[in-house]
Amino acid sequence: MATDAFGRFVDYLRISVTDRCNLRCLYCMPAQGVAWKDRSEILTLDEIVRFAAAAASEGISKVRLTGGEPLIRPGIVDLVRRLRGVNGIDSVAITTNGTLLPRLAGDLAGAGLDGVNVSLVSLDPATYSNVTRGGSLAGALAGIEAALAAGIPTIKLNVVVMRSLDQNLLSVARMTIDRPVHVRFIEYMPVGGGDDCRGPGDGAGAWSRSERVPSSEILARLGAGASAAGLGSLAPAPVDRAPVSWGPARYYQFAGAAGTVGVVSALSRPFCDACNRLRLTADGKLRTCLFSDDELDVRHVLRHGTDAGLPPIILAGLALKPESHGMRVGTLRGMSQIGG
Ligand code: SAM
Repeated sequence: MATDAFGRFVDYLRISVTDRCNLRCLYCMPAQGVAWKDRSEILTLDEIVRFAAAAASEGISKVRLTGGEPLIRPGIVDLVRRLRGVNGIDSVAITTNGTLLPRLAGDLAGAGLDGVNVSLVSLDPATYSNVTRGGSLAGALAGIEAALAAGIPTIKLNVVVMRSLDQNLLSVARMTIDRPVHVRFIEYMPVGGGDDCRGPGDGAGAWSRSERVPSSEILARLGAGASAAGLGSLAPAPVDRAPVSWGPARYYQFAGAAGTVGVVSALSRPFCDACNRLRLTADGKLRTCLFSDDELDVRHVLRHGTDAGLPPIILAGLALKPESHGMRVGTLRGMSQIGG
């Protein structure tokens, strides 16, 4: 297992397979004006697998594919199968908006996909459409049901929480009562908005501190709503009920529920001391922290060097990994360009 300069075990690699997306979630990317990378800049599937194999040789055992929207990348099923076959990688998951899962869930399960995180900002069709700028709630829900029917082992639902949105958090949390899904409420994070990136919202640097809802408030709102609805309290989930997790969520559960409810508090309760991840952007840059613009050029080595040059880049990334995100606001790339 690899350790970084602060003694943290790093065994998790997020790989963005595309910077493009079929939705335009307002917390993630602007409605217009995103400068897409030229296709020649995007890593090929072979290049991704070569890098993943090198990362595995340095202790990476878990991979998550993201984007952009990873399910629009041609060959995504084949990529999952190939990554699942890399010596040392024991888990491959995908983060997706779910809209293409009705078509792909069965094949992804057959390829060995271990988990899927589906973004689901609201169960209200109008709010969902407003936040995703035109997305169909019915499509996302059909994707979740397809993932369940396909038997993908771990299914999490990601709910980014923003103060100004009309989000009925309890209605999403209730999905855990009769489905083995893990709903995670995620604090809205200040990614993007840097010099050459129009951040979330419609203007440069549109991330707004006032939109943040700390996880303590999310839990209080859920607790009050649950007791008013006669659902009882949300208690910390027993360790064996929480999803096998590579990440930082804290999990709770309604009595007798099939799934769990979690909170991810990157800002109000940072988890940098347990950060176990590196990120590879779709254009082949290794990033050491979501909030750091330090990047190492993996693509150059993949295209102009040999595979022997890849482990040293990973070790350099581990050496560069910052101790904490330092409550930094804004990054040069937006979330969809990094791979959230
Ligand atoms: N298109 C896929 C999706 O919608 O899940 C994958 C890419 S998206 C960038 C990955 C994750 O980042 C999603 O769970 C999304 O909700 C989250 N995300 C995007 N912008 C965010 C922000 N500003 N704060 C917190 N989470 C964010």
